[in-house]
Amino acid sequence: KFNTNLGQHILKNPMIAQGIVDKAEIRPSDTILEVGPGTGNLTVRILPQARKVIAVEMDPRMAAELTKRVRGTAEEKKLEILLGDCIKTDLPYCDVCISNTPYQISSPLVFKLLNQPNPPRVSILMFQREFALRLVARPGDSLYCRLSANVQMWANVTHIMKVGKNNFRPPPKVESSVVRIEVKTPRPNIKFAEWDGLLRVCFLRKNKTIAAGFKTSTVLELLEKNYKAYVSSKGGDVEMDQDYKTIVKEKITKVLQETGLAEQRSSKCDQLEFLKLLFGFHQEGLYFS
Ligand code: SAM
Repeated sequence: KFNTNLGQHILKNPMIAQGIVDKAEIRPSDTILEVGPGTGNLTVRILPQARKVIAVEMDPRMAAELTKRVRGTAEEKKLEILLGDCIKTDLPYCDVCISNTPYQISSPLVFKLLNQPNPPRVSILMFQREFALRLVARPGDSLYCRLSANVQMWANVTHIMKVGKNNFRPPPKVESSVVRIEVKTPRPNIKFAEWDGLLRVCFLRKNKTIAAGFKTSTVLELLEKNYKAYVSSKGGDVEMDQDYKTIVKEKITKVLQETGLAEQRSSKCDQLEFLKLLFGFHQEGLYFS
């Protein structure tokens, strides 16, 4: 009956469902976005607390079931169901997002939420345990990775609840955890694509030195292409006989030396160190996007 390809694992423990909704600290004026409401075990607990709930559900059978479940209740009018893939849909404004997330879309959903023009002030999201632990991992932790460094630039993430697999029907293969994602305000004044681009290079091989990532030909080509675009955007001429490859290599060496990070490993670097690198590169006209 359930389509596990769509991550359909229904949360059957009412205490946990209520716990998740309570953790969102919903205000009566709030619009809540729920991703993947399924049969509505979270939805019916959100509705009494919120002004409005917009639920994005991909499976029409689930949407029909949810419609039936709220029909004739006092809260029926507060619920709007959008049928479709939440990754491909333009998400409406919301104050809070709550989701027992279909695990296939964990990463795209997090970044989609963080990149909304007005991101939700709080997101309470259930993920598979390892993904949740990656989100909260700190430099030096074994699970610290590009995802951790990236998300933690834009938001404070906390692990709030472990949820065993037997609380779901059918039970998934792995354990789950609920996290709270609170966006930083104001948003750090950095371009998403630049931060993401730098981290992609630094975490190409997270246990090798940062300098190693900057030796690969795809990275060098990208930085060279962007450097030429930067030169012409400044009104300069990109000259055919200039050896841009060497110029870019020298600039990279300079930045890595001046920041003292050439021999560091990304697995141990914190946000400030990556920021120092990014500013260093920008000062040399080297961009990642
Ligand atoms: N919220 C319910 C609960 O806690 O019992 C169901 C959660 S279940 C893990 C995930 C739900 O997301 C399913 O109903 C599934 O059909 C839906 N879904 C899967 N992929 C989706 C997508 N890309 N966009 C929107 N909904 C999706």
